[in-house]
Amino acid sequence: MRKYVIMGVQGSGKGTQSALLAADLDLVHISVGDIFRWHVKHHTKLGAQVRRLVAAGELVGDDLVESVVRDRLQLHDWNYGFIIDGFPRNRRQAEFFLESYDLDGVIHLDLPDDEVRRRVLARRLCSRCGMDYNLIAHRPEVEGRCDVCGGDLVTRADDTPDALARRLADYHSKIDPVIELFKRKEYVMTIDARADKATVQRAIRTRFNLPPYLPSNARLSG
Ligand SMILES: [Zn+2]
Repeated sequence: MRKYVIMGVQGSGKGTQSALLAADLDLVHISVGDIFRWHVKHHTKLGAQVRRLVAAGELVGDDLVESVVRDRLQLHDWNYGFIIDGFPRNRRQAEFFLESYDLDGVIHLDLPDDEVRRRVLARRLCSRCGMDYNLIAHRPEVEGRCDVCGGDLVTRADDTPDALARRLADYHSKIDPVIELFKRKEYVMTIDARADKATVQRAIRTRFNLPPYLPSNARLSG
């Protein structure tokens, strides 16, 4: 059983790195962003709530995130472990997490703010279903069109340099103390997230003594 938390600012590649680890190690990838996107796409009540917040340029509140993560963990479908991305978001949640789950480690993807700006300002959003794209890391198959629903891709109203600067300040004020708390009590490995995704993945495997990342052989037998 392996239990990890992955932390990093938006644009640091958390989703990609988590997915690679989860696929290879049979971990359940619990991505708060993916859970909310699923609800938006399937027009649930929670999805409507999230859509309103995003349209208003607001962030989903910590309490809502916490209840979604608690519910998800209680499914106990993670027989070989999990990797959580997007939680905890404050010290109280971090403490709850440390008391309730015996974590193996915290993967901290470290990305300087100027690189975050370069990556995030390349983001696009489907105007119909809300799916995220990125013109650097996650290009749509057809330029300007959503792979899922065919909707027009647009720049989010809140992906301006000013709004991003506010989100970065918010991230550092909230998440830096969480990382500090984990560093004191747990096994935090800080990984330089500026490299390409394979290099970052190999660094994570090395630092946590995990089986090596072999992208050319991955899943061929599956
Ligand atoms: Zn779409």
